[in-house]
Amino acid sequence: MPELPEVESLRRLLAESARGRRIVSARIRESRLRRRVAGDFTRMVAGRTIDELRRRAKYLLIDLSGEITLLAHLGMSGSLTHRGAGFCDEDFDPAHDHLHFQLDDGTALVYNDPRRFGLLKLVPTAQLDAVAELRELGPEPLGPDFNAEYLFQRARGRRVAIKNLIMDQRIVAGIGNIYASEALFAAHVRPGRAAQRVTRAEAAKIVEFSRAILTRAIGSGGTTFRSYRDSRGLPGRFATDLQVYGREGERCYVCGSPIKNRVLGQRASFYCAACQH
Ligand SMILES: [Zn+2]
Repeated sequence: MPELPEVESLRRLLAESARGRRIVSARIRESRLRRRVAGDFTRMVAGRTIDELRRRAKYLLIDLSGEITLLAHLGMSGSLTHRGAGFCDEDFDPAHDHLHFQLDDGTALVYNDPRRFGLLKLVPTAQLDAVAELRELGPEPLGPDFNAEYLFQRARGRRVAIKNLIMDQRIVAGIGNIYASEALFAAHVRPGRAAQRVTRAEAAKIVEFSRAILTRAIGSGGTTFRSYRDSRGLPGRFATDLQVYGREGERCYVCGSPIKNRVLGQRASFYCAACQH
């Protein structure tokens, strides 16, 4: 499932390859994604220029000319690839190529999504902050508002597991399962610990390592665990850096103990019982 670093990597690549291009036409092969793509979608995007690419949490915001923004979420298995003319020509199963944006230089942006949990919708740019998907999101994990004092205050009095707290998008927007597991390992805090039992110093470490790990993952083009591909059809390279995520039963790189996996909030949660308390 694409998380913040994957979406940020994608944003940077598309900003290089597609910014300034005009969408000549759009075609929908399958409109039934997480929600149905609006009926006037193709007519609304045709003729508009891709002005800017932004990101909020795990959403990609593609600002089009005329004050319209395409809000995109890749769901579980979505990809937005830039195909043709030296960009990605990777073989994606065309049966899952749901939306096709023809650009004015002969290339195309293609949204492919086998599981169809993604979201593509048009929003007037001025109303983005009020849209249901974005309005309740907490601060960006790489922004100044996510800091030790903030996390400590939000954790106080909360019995929820600390991992579930930092994955709560209303608390901090964009930390998913992979990076929550990795940040808590680096901070020596067990994922199942009650949030209210996290000290101020530990909150500082969780924030520090969340930011450091997300930043490193962006630099590596994100993590491909199963299916994620960037706009060139290439996988992220961060998976080899993972310390605990997906390593159940394997030895901890720090102490040699077997990595454990406990289900928290219906999500697999990997940790080392010796290194994390
Ligand atoms: Zn360990």
